This record gives sequence, C-alpha cells and structure tokens, in this order.
Amino acid sequence: MSRWTLSPDQIPSAWFNVAPHLPTPPQPPLHPGTREPVGPDDLAPLFPMACIGQEVSAMPWIDIPGEVLDILRLWRPTPLVRATRLEQALGTPARIYFKDESVSPSGSHKTNTAVAQAFYNKQEGITRLSTETGAGQWGTALSFACSQFDLDLKVYMVRASYQQKPYRKIAMETWGAEVVPSPVDEPDHPGSLGSAISDAVRDCVGREDTHYSLGSVLNHVLLHQTVIGLEAKEQLELAGERLPDVVVASCGGGSNLGGIAFPFVPDETVRLLAVEPTSCPTLTQGRFDYDFGDVAGMTPLMPMYTLGHDFVPPSIHAGGLRYHGDSPLVSALVRDERMEAIAYPQGKVFEAAVQFARTEGKIPAPETAHAIRGAIDEALAAKETGEERVVLFNFSGHGFLDLAAYDDYTHGRLEQG
Ligand SMILES: *Cc1c(COP(=O)(O)O)cnc(C)c1O
Repeated sequence: MSRWTLSPDQIPSAWFNVAPHLPTPPQPPLHPGTREPVGPDDLAPLFPMACIGQEVSAMPWIDIPGEVLDILRLWRPTPLVRATRLEQALGTPARIYFKDESVSPSGSHKTNTAVAQAFYNKQEGITRLSTETGAGQWGTALSFACSQFDLDLKVYMVRASYQQKPYRKIAMETWGAEVVPSPVDEPDHPGSLGSAISDAVRDCVGREDTHYSLGSVLNHVLLHQTVIGLEAKEQLELAGERLPDVVVASCGGGSNLGGIAFPFVPDETVRLLAVEPTSCPTLTQGRFDYDFGDVAGMTPLMPMYTLGHDFVPPSIHAGGLRYHGDSPLVSALVRDERMEAIAYPQGKVFEAAVQFARTEGKIPAPETAHAIRGAIDEALAAKETGEERVVLFNFSGHGFLDLAAYDDYTHGRLEQG
C-alpha cells in the first residue's frame, strides 16, 4: 500500500502546543511604542480573546472546538502518501512520505487555521474580518471559512498578485469576500505582504465590528496547523513505519512547517528542516532580533529571524514565501539548533516540482516545491551513503492556480534565482 487515510472520527481532538517543549522559554512580543511586553488589552482590538490566550498558553494540549472539527472533517484527516514512484526515479533507498494538505477546499493547509479563527471571532460577536493576502492562498482560505460562519471579509491583496493571479480573486469573491489591491494609497506600487498587513490592520483598528486575521507567523496560527503533524504520526504508525529521520517543509511565515514539525519536536532523533527561497532567505541569512511584522511598523515587535521590515523581496513565483520575518516559535527552534534551514534558488525548485509532477502526478504550489526540493536532496544524500532514511514532507498546496509559473519554467522564461 502507498496511501494511508484515517476515518473522519480519527481527526485529532486537541492541538499540540510546542511552547512547553522549546529549549529556551519564548520571549514576549513588545509594544511598538513603549517596548514593554504587549498584554491582552493591546491585542484585543485585533484578535479574539481565545486566540490571544492561545498565543501565550503554556498548556501542552488545547482542545479543538466541536464546531471547528465539524468543518475540518469536510477534508480531514488528509492522506499520507508514500512517494514510491519518485523514490524509484531517484534510485534512492530512502522512503519518502508526504502529507497531502492540497485536498482542502482552498487547496492548501491554510484552511486549517482559517476555520478556527473564523469560529473564535464569530463566537465573540465579531461580524467582519480584514486580512491581507500575498499569492492569494490565505485570502481564499479565509474567504471559505468566513462563508461557513456568515462573516463579512475584506481582503487586501498584494497588487502584483492581484494583477497576475485573477483566479484567486475570483475564488475569494465566489466565497463572498471583497478583494482590493494593496497598497491602497499607492496605485503604482507592486506591493508586498508587509504593506498589505499595514492596510488590513488600519482597516480593522477603526471599527468595532471588525477584527484582523493573520494566516501565518503567530503562535496561535501555528498551533491550529499541528493537526497535520499529529495525523502524520498516526498514519506513519498505521503504515508500520518508524519515526521519520527528517521532516521537511517550506517556510514563509512558518505555519505549514510548524504544523507538520512541531509534534515531532519532543522526538529528539527527528531532524526538522525548513526550506526557503534564496531570494528571501530569512532563516539562513537574516538576523535574530525584535522587528515589526509589517512595513509601516504598526504591529507589535516580535523576536524572530528577519531581513528588516522594509525588505522588499523580488517577485518570485512562490509569493507565500516572500516575507521579511518568520514565526517566533520557528525562529527560536532554529536559533537553538533544534531545527535546520536551507535556501534554494527558484530554478532548482521548479526542477524538483516538475520531477514530482511527472512521477507522483500532483502539480505542487511553487511554495510546496521548496519542500519537495529539500526532500529530494535528503533522499539523494541517503543514496550517497546507502542509508534507509525516512523522509516526511508537507505537500502544503496544489499549483493549479499557479500554472503561469510552470509556463515560464517550461518555456525558459523563469528567473533562475
Ligand atoms: C502560504 C503558503 C506557504 C507558506 O506559508 P507558511 O506560513 O510558511 O506555511 C507554503 N505553502 C503554501 C501552499 C501556502 O499557501
């Protein structure tokens, strides 16, 4: 057998909190004005209290509300697949498994936290959310989730993506969201995730009925993603497989990586590997420091690897990996050497994506292709040494709305860097 599914009633009933398992205790976010640790009151205009509580929780497990589970069961548990055809093509003794998060309604892992965040906002009496989206995956995920809970949603979409990826906008509108290009006040600017966050936060702070929702980076977002790794652990057992030697995921803000990797943090033999683009090398080239989450400096200062909040990365196809900072939890694990990081240029990443598509069949999102590059290189390293390495990676999303990038690759127009 090469594919393991769990039944809908085997979905995890609690999220895994990595905070108590960190080598050193987490540092608090700081208020941008006073540089004092931010308290719940500072965050209350932006987020529901349940999420603020999860942001600082030291509880090892946090129950998933039944209403959230009911919606997650539309596509969860997601399949664990052994990539035997890719293994054969590589001629590797490694066993490669991937967790297929592309089966969600919006086509990526982001739907996992979107549903939880929409639920907690609805429960607190909020009727409208604002958010930003880069390549469009987060916007589509939250649009779907808001449609489930009857919440209004305004999405500030990075202008370059708004113009290059009309199908994402159409999906968001189909789920009932309003979509505008960002930055709103600079019509000639291609935009960035950092500036779109500024627009979405500005929208929400002026309104009682509105909260802001972030698709990555924050502790509660990564917490909601841990269903991925928890299911994968169960499925590996079902497959009669041992613990993986290495768990690989792409890293933009860290949510799909945290989701699959955090449940393995207590398993000390398991290596954890973050893969990022060389054009936005936050973990491999950035410095660990307090920095803002956005360009305008409106968010709290977070302790993380950063390239500087005014860093504008080049317009690579993996738009979801174009972020100057990273999750504080992921950053702490990298700083403390519990997690490794590697960066790849775009050309090498698409080479891996196409090899995967031609062996396993699925066309990955350009972000996901970074994890595939990492997994393939782990398997090739095992071939060198003749090692039976077990590699698990996160198939964070499909690439059906990113086909223009494949067109560029196939016809020699892709920027190799
Ligand atoms: C957004 C996205 C990413 C990168 O974001 P993380 O928060 O680092 O996971 C990776 N893959 C896909 C498919 C995405 O949509």
